[in-house]
Formats: sequence, C-alpha cells, structure tokens
Amino acid sequence: MTARRTAIETISNHRVASTQEYLEFAGADIYGEYVFHEVAQRQYLAKPIFRRLQRTIDGLEPFDPVIADAVAHGVKEWALAHGATHFTHWFVPMTGSTAEKHDSFLTPLGDGRTIAEFSGKNLIQGEPDASSFPSGGIRATFEARGYTAWDVTSPIFLQVEPNGVTMTIPTAYVSFTGEALDHKIPLLRSQEAVGREAVRILRWFGNTSTNRVFTNIGPEQEYFLVDRRLAEQRPDLVLTGRTLFGAPSPKGQELEDQYFGSIRPRILAFMMDLDRELWRLGVPARTRHNEVAPGQFEMAPVYEPTSVGSDHNMVVMATMRRLAPQHGLAFLIHEKPFAGINGSGKHNNWSMATDDGENLLDPGNDPHENAQFLAFLVSVIRGVNVHADLLRASIADAGNDHRLGANEAPPAIVSIFLGSQLEDVIEQLARGSASASKRSGSLELGVTSLPSLSMDATDRNRTSPFAFTGNKFEFRAVGSSAPIYWPQTVLNVAVAESLKELADALEGLEPGDFEGLTRILSKTVKENRQVLFEGNGYSEEWHAEAAKRGLPNNKSTVDALPALASSKAKGLFSAFGVLSERELAARVDISWERYVKVSNIEAACALDIARTMILPAAVRYLGELSAAGAGKGVAAVSKRVGALVDGLVDAIEALEHAQHAAHEAGSVEAEARAFAEVVIPAQGALREVADELETVVSDELWPLPKYRELLFAY
Ligand code: ADP
Ligand code: MG
Repeated sequence: MTARRTAIETISNHRVASTQEYLEFAGADIYGEYVFHEVAQRQYLAKPIFRRLQRTIDGLEPFDPVIADAVAHGVKEWALAHGATHFTHWFVPMTGSTAEKHDSFLTPLGDGRTIAEFSGKNLIQGEPDASSFPSGGIRATFEARGYTAWDVTSPIFLQVEPNGVTMTIPTAYVSFTGEALDHKIPLLRSQEAVGREAVRILRWFGNTSTNRVFTNIGPEQEYFLVDRRLAEQRPDLVLTGRTLFGAPSPKGQELEDQYFGSIRPRILAFMMDLDRELWRLGVPARTRHNEVAPGQFEMAPVYEPTSVGSDHNMVVMATMRRLAPQHGLAFLIHEKPFAGINGSGKHNNWSMATDDGENLLDPGNDPHENAQFLAFLVSVIRGVNVHADLLRASIADAGNDHRLGANEAPPAIVSIFLGSQLEDVIEQLARGSASASKRSGSLELGVTSLPSLSMDATDRNRTSPFAFTGNKFEFRAVGSSAPIYWPQTVLNVAVAESLKELADALEGLEPGDFEGLTRILSKTVKENRQVLFEGNGYSEEWHAEAAKRGLPNNKSTVDALPALASSKAKGLFSAFGVLSERELAARVDISWERYVKVSNIEAACALDIARTMILPAAVRYLGELSAAGAGKGVAAVSKRVGALVDGLVDAIEALEHAQHAAHEAGSVEAEARAFAEVVIPAQGALREVADELETVVSDELWPLPKYRELLFAY
C-alpha cells in the first residue's frame, strides 16, 4: 500500500477523543487563568504599586523604574504559584515571527541550594543577541547588542505546556543605538500619534473629559486545516506552507456547501480546545466557522486596543499551530495553500475610541448631523487616499501576491467602501453640506411567526479592501500569516496625518464654527473622493475606472514596495516620530530580502520535488506502459506521458537557469524583480506540466497526496 493510502485508512478510522474537560472548565472559570491581569495584580501587588502600574497601563503616566522591583516580585510570586520555572522576554523581530529566550528563576545560593529570583531589571530589560535577527543593515554581524523593553500595556502571560510553565513578558525590541528592530515599537509610536491628533480635534468640539484616544483592532483570522499524515508527505507543505504542485480536485468549492456549513467533529474538537486555550490566555475568542474553501476555517476575537490585539493575534496563530498536531491536523496559515480555491486573509476591523468609551467612528442615527463623526470619517478617507500606495505596500509579500492583484480579491487597488447611507452623506458634503441621511428600516418577512428584522442602513461589500461596516472600518486585504502590527502602523500614521491637518485648520476657527468645519470637510472630500468605490472590486470595469482616476494598482510585491522608499513615505513616518529614515529604509530592505528568500526557497523546493519525486514517478509509469505491450491505447498514453516527461525535464532546466540568473542580478531589488518576472513564471510553467502529469500517471505511483485527499479527507 502506498503511504498516501495508509494515511487515508488511518484517517477514516479517526475518532474524536471524548473529554469531559469542558464540564469542569467552562469559559468564565478559566478566562484569563494564564494572565497577570488586573485581578491577579491586585492580589500580588501592594495597593500603591498596583495603582501606579495601572496608571502607566492606562497611558496616564510614564513607567517609573522605582516600582520595578516591587512589580517583579509580585509577578514572580504569581508565576511560581502557577508552576512557572522560567521567564522570557517575548518580542516580534522583523522576521515576522515571535522570538523568546528562556531564563530560569533559579539562582544558586552557594551552599548547594538555590532560590527563585526575579529582579525589576529582569522584568523591564532584556538583552538578546541582536546579530542574528534581520536589521536591514542597522546592525552589522559583529554589533550584537540589542535590548528588549517591557511593554507594560500588553499583559504578562504564562505559556503552559504539559511539562512546565514559562512566564512570558511582551516586550519591544531595539538596537544598541536605540533604533526599532521590531514590529511593536512603530505601532506604539503610531498609536500615540493618532491619539495626540485625535484629542486636539475632540477639544475643538468642546470635549474636555477625554484623556486619551487609541485605536481598536478585531482581526478575523482565516486558516486551513488538513490531515497531518497527508501534509507531512508533501515537502512543499512542510517547507513553504503551500502546495507548489497539485492538479485541481474534481470537486472544489463550487457547490458552496462549506461556508458556514456544519463543522466536522474533528475540526470542532480542535476549535473547542483552541477557544479554551485562548480564553485561558486572556484572548477573547468569539466566533468560529467554516470558511468558503474546503478545509478552510475562521476565528475572530472580540476587539481590543491595537497593541494588545496585535500581540494576541500572534498568540492565536501560535496556539493554532501548537494545538493542530494534537488533533492529527496540520495548520496552514499561508495566504494561498491551494491553487484554484480561495486563499486566506485577515480582516482587520479597526476603529478609534476614547478612554471614556466613545467610538469615534460610530455614525449614530443621523450621520449628517454628527459633525464630529464626519470629521473623523473624512480624515480616514483622506489618509487612505493620500497613502493608498503605502497601505498597499504594508501588506505586500510573496504569499499575499497570490491573493491581491491575482485571481482573487480583494484587488490590489486600495479603495474605500462606505455603503449607500454614508456615501450619500459624503456626496452631499462634497456639494457643500449634508442635510439628510437615508434611514434604515425594518425587514418584514411575511410570516407571522418570524420577527421583523431591524435593517442596517447599508449593505456590505466583500470585494472592497477597506470597507466601512457600521461603526468601524475593515481592512480586508491583510495576509493571513502576516503579523498585523505593520499594516496597522501604516494606517494609524496615515490617519494621524489627516487628523493633524484638520486639527491645524480647526484651531484657526472659532470653536463652534460649524460652517467653517463644513467648508474644510467639503474641500477634503472633493480632493479625496476618488478613493471611494461602491461597486464590484473584482470587475474589469473597476480596474479601468481606477486607472482613469489615477489610483495606484500595484499588482505584486515588487511593484508595491518602492512606495515605501519615496520621499512622501519618509516625510510621513519621520514627521510623526514613527520611523526615522534609517529605520524605514531598514524595513524596506528586509521586505525585499524576505521576498527573494521566500521565492528562492519555493523555487528550490519545486525543483527538488520535480526532479526527485514527480519525474521518477512519471518515468516508472512509462516503464509500466511499455511492459504492457504495444496496443493502440497504451501507445497513445505512452506517447502523451513521454511528451510530458520531455516537457517536465525542459521546464526543470528552465527554472534552474532562471534561479541562477536571478542570483546574479546584482542588488536585492534587481534580484527580487528577476524572481517576479522570470523565476516565478518559470516555476508556474513547471507546475503546469507536473499537474498535467498528475492527471495521467497511475494513482498508485503518484508520490504526493492529491488535492482531493488533502481537502476532503480529514
Ligand atoms: P464579519 O465576519 O461578519 O465581518 P466577525 O464577527 O467575524 O464579523 O468579526 C467582526 C470583528 O470586528 C470582531 O473581531 C469584532 O470584535 C470586531 N469589531 C466590532 N466592533 C469593533 C470596533 N468598534 N472596532 C474594532 N473592531 C470591532
Ligand atoms: Mg468573519
């Protein structure tokens, strides 16, 4: 029996392990069990220390190192009580994955015994070796010093494994020279920028009670699960997270029977474990459902302040990755694991809120009368229009290239969907002032036993990369595997710039001069309405129309990244103290490098599979055919396979050449372009022949688990 068939046989015998855990550990009992949250802080910290820490967490005062030792002692006692033996500074370097190095609490006493020690310095500062993380040239290999600094705003948590517990401290990561080497620092800086400018606007509106404005994030996370026994037989899934080969399954997603379908017991068992684990970690997991493609699923948490929500999204992905094998599943977070069916993204629901609980993007019932809402809305429209190219660049990488600007939505053109009600208000504003809002109604279903439904004032649009949904925007174009810090940073700083422009203008008006405000907003709308689009973002007409409007349409990473090197970008990031020119240049450099490395790994992997798995299978099949004699049918098949084998060998050679030539291209940018323009198409051509072979070579000889097995056998 082939390895594939053996795997399928075990899969068909899989039974979900029954556990009574859920009866004992319901959501409310376990929520936040692994987190040093407010209640735990109250229990383990003296009152004055607790109060000061809270004020820092709430952004009301800077962290005072004087309390560090006391906090460290409290959190250590808490962690020890939960069985922790180690602590770690946890951060997100520009690799895009989290990093951690564990230290034990144990300190030898010198008399053969040890005690558990953890100082304030251990808590607030760490010193990982900075030479082996990407720095984009900021650090040379021999300049190893870098620091991690405790991010007080993101709660300390425990990583609990069957064999032990590690206390985990979310941190920011800087070089010896004080430059940001991570994803967290620019995000925190951008949060402060938005907050500062937003408060200026609120003050003009007469608001004296708000101390702080921040942004919230609710990232919906799409992912695939496939059986692990099958996935591990595919070097491409193991090494690149996506299938580099694979003929379409005879059945794909066309019956539309997966989306919101009833969830298979094995998957539901995973999801239930996942939710429980996330609740323990204080991640407010809320929704779970089947997504459109077979084998595709989604989870969404309740929204949180952006820096915490971004950390939590890393925790969500890590927890999925950790739990999937316990259910015999492989977790695929790649943007496009399978050709021909939907890929995965992240939908970042985003809003601005005040510390006294007001959502600044809530239109209320009469948006046309809600001047403050319109001021914030128009500022977002301006920010997204002026910096559409940067937003596009912030989500550009090799994986997301398979979704954006390719066969799948949302398109690479950044536009905003407002929905009919707000679009109408904004159009009125463009003409001078807004005097009415379309009303929402109720839906009568024509059945006495069914309730009438209250209707939203606007429909939704799934094809828009940036859509208004009720009281928040949804940035729908982010890749499924991407950390969300960077796109949210770019969005924040783009909006901060608009808010600043508006605040500057408002401060030249008398408070309460709403006519003056309307004039300013009207002008801003007129200058930026080109970014508004209500129609079908997938359509050809939109691409033509967007070109006419002059909207950027950067189809791939190599088209998108140059925007970040523009003087507009440099000016924006440095004006708001989010990234210095050097820090920005480093980030861009790392993005180019990463694109080349990922593309190179994929090409090398494709070559390896083609040469050592697919070609031998095809040749073996040719042997079987020639042993079968020379009947007319056999001869025809033999001829076809023979021709495909020739084609395969040629395509392997062409890809090899292209890959070598790309390495000779010179600068990393030139190399990236060579990959985009020559290597990736050559790899596509190789795939085409290989996938055709898959449809003719004997199933018994085929070495790779097929799409129909990966997508439907679990
Ligand atoms: P859908 O798939 O219908 O868009 P989901 O329920 O899957 O909706 O996800 C919606 C996400 O938006 C959730 O994470 C939710 O917490 C988040 N969200 C709701 N209100 C806000 C808000 N004001 N700011 C940011 N995120 C929000
Ligand atoms: Mg959803």
